[in-house]
Amino acid sequence: MNSLRRIDIKYLKGVGPKRADLIGRELGIKSYYDLLHHFPSHYVDRSKIYNIVDLHGEMPALQIKGKFLTFNVVGEGAKSRLIGLFSDGTATIEVVWFRRISQIKQAYKTGNEYILFGKPGEFNGTRQMVHPEIDPVGSTTATGGLRGVYPLTEKLRNAGIGSRTIFTWVMNLLSTMRPVAETLSTDVIEAMKLMPLRDALVAVHNPQDAATLQKARFRLKFEELFYIQLNLRRHSLMRAARTDGIRFGRVGEFFNTFYERQLPFDLTNAQKRVIKEIRHDMGSGRQMNRLLQGDVGSGKTLVALMTMLIAIDNGYQACLMAPTEILATQHYQTLRELVAPIGINVRLLTGSTRAKERREIHEGLLSGDIQLIVGTHALIEDTVKFRNLGFVVIDEQHRFGVMQRSRLWTKNSVLPHVLVMTATPIPRTLAMTLYGDLDVSVIDELPPGRKPVDTMICYDTRREMVNRSIGRQLAMGRQVYIVYPLISENEKLDLKSLEDGYETICETFPSYEVTYVHGKMKPAEKDRRMNDFVSGKARILVATTVIEVGVNVPNATTMVIENAERFGLSQLHQLRGRVGRGADKSYCVLMTKPQIAKNTRERLEIMTSTNDGFIVAEADLKMRGPGDIEGTLQSGIAFDLKIANLATDQQIVQYARDRAEAVLEDDPSLGKPVHAVLLANLQENFEKAIDLSRIS
Ligand code: ADP
Ligand code: MG
Repeated sequence: MNSLRRIDIKYLKGVGPKRADLIGRELGIKSYYDLLHHFPSHYVDRSKIYNIVDLHGEMPALQIKGKFLTFNVVGEGAKSRLIGLFSDGTATIEVVWFRRISQIKQAYKTGNEYILFGKPGEFNGTRQMVHPEIDPVGSTTATGGLRGVYPLTEKLRNAGIGSRTIFTWVMNLLSTMRPVAETLSTDVIEAMKLMPLRDALVAVHNPQDAATLQKARFRLKFEELFYIQLNLRRHSLMRAARTDGIRFGRVGEFFNTFYERQLPFDLTNAQKRVIKEIRHDMGSGRQMNRLLQGDVGSGKTLVALMTMLIAIDNGYQACLMAPTEILATQHYQTLRELVAPIGINVRLLTGSTRAKERREIHEGLLSGDIQLIVGTHALIEDTVKFRNLGFVVIDEQHRFGVMQRSRLWTKNSVLPHVLVMTATPIPRTLAMTLYGDLDVSVIDELPPGRKPVDTMICYDTRREMVNRSIGRQLAMGRQVYIVYPLISENEKLDLKSLEDGYETICETFPSYEVTYVHGKMKPAEKDRRMNDFVSGKARILVATTVIEVGVNVPNATTMVIENAERFGLSQLHQLRGRVGRGADKSYCVLMTKPQIAKNTRERLEIMTSTNDGFIVAEADLKMRGPGDIEGTLQSGIAFDLKIANLATDQQIVQYARDRAEAVLEDDPSLGKPVHAVLLANLQENFEKAIDLSRIS
């Protein structure tokens, strides 16, 4: 199988260099292997033939069977097209070609019977089918079973490469291929009762029935997920075997003094448990790589602080990195207030730190004077050097690129312990795949006294009512957020809707100070305006999603989200987390147009039904698929899954994980002859892949 990766697709019969170039660019198919793994996205039942009389423009691609009555070229030059009038006895339909007209006229004859596959449409009241795929009745490709529909692009269609073309190439390849070498070991195949690889490939491209197709897809999905899990599990085993982590042997003065004198409230049980887990890791002699998940407001910062104190107690420096300047500054202020009194030197380093202060901080980090540094990505610049960095905490990790993150811990000869914190809860199966065996801690409890945020969906037509509620909150001294979506394709329009909204709000609430922020603003101005809101000077903040992460204004009790239907659920949940931070009852209003689709409405209703970020994230994954899950893309670990789907194949992820574990338990080094094939494929599959257990 691996050798197939090295055979250029241009050598396949019917492809050639020009088309090879095109499918390489459009579909990423460069080798024989790639072609075999370009799977149909869905299937149509080849036994089902529709009557032309029943067709209408709302139907998906389907099959009809009949004869061409006439062929006519209409129009001139670039506008000319070929129209074949096609009849099945129930009615006629115009079949239209805009390109390759002379070839088409040569290829198809009136009087012969054909099966056409395409999407029916209507043009000026006439039924049409544009550029269908055509098989002569009785041809081998046209009969029986299910017909795969391959993902294609417009460019390919224009070049005359259709689903049928791909299918023919795959069939050519499969028929000329030497036996397909099995890519899984016999013990795995037997344990999972998998279909042999060759059968699975044939069946997935050319299925005879639904049951066989399902078995074939299971085999291919399993294999895809199995190798990911095998790779991750192997790395984590290797990591576990290493004992060159910094050992933080003691819990000392700073930690204890803080606990006794500075801690502003009792820790929740979840916080206590997580601190224990982290402490245990850091004392084990293994380097810690831990993901800390905790819903918005669950108190992750305090956990970070207390574990950083352990590092400092052991004579090491600690650093906390945040994705935005606002957030870094807020962290800095919180932390300084808490630990400066016990004699810890804590500093802030961001992009806007002045040169002189920056130099001073660089020196302090190098000499070890600074024990705790908070900052943005300014911390990962090469000029920043530490005396002995022992512990790195990264907040809201999905905002950082993988490479940026990894640079922080190459600043030492010894790897520091790493704690990555996220408030975007990652559903279990996704976490399993994205983070493999990063150890995961979860804060599954909110500090006492939090009241759930009341969430409601509200149509634009009832804006007056919303304004009255806002007015009541303002009159009670509270603050309000109003958030506009970024529609990213058109920044000008986005800004316009924000600015219009801002003006309307100013007119509606003339006696209150209103401010606004957006991502295109100069950082200094943004900070100034944010600070106006944080300090309470401005009572209403109109903003784009720049406020999504981390801002803490306990006096804000109302969050209004405009065009809520444009946001992902996780994003809505993050935004909602900006309110409900104080003692007062808080509200989140999701504004939408009255005419939203049913599933959009259902999506938003998840928000009204729960305050639990994990439930929201699971629902989001199910409804939108993992590709859309916020953070997945930014995390930089894009899995190029060809057939498996992390949202719908959760069960198979679990099987793959269990099986990978079983194999490694039996044969940790994959040294047994039966597993040689696994080792070979693992190396082939992850040749260029990054070592996930190290960078996450
Ligand atoms: P997040 O997990 O979203 O980062 P924070 O760490 O910002 O949450 O904490 C949210 C708020 O809860 C802060 O104001 C913090 O002081 C407060 N807090 C944290 N832990 C506790 C606790 N155990 N009891 C009461 N309040 C707490
Ligand atoms: Mg936080």
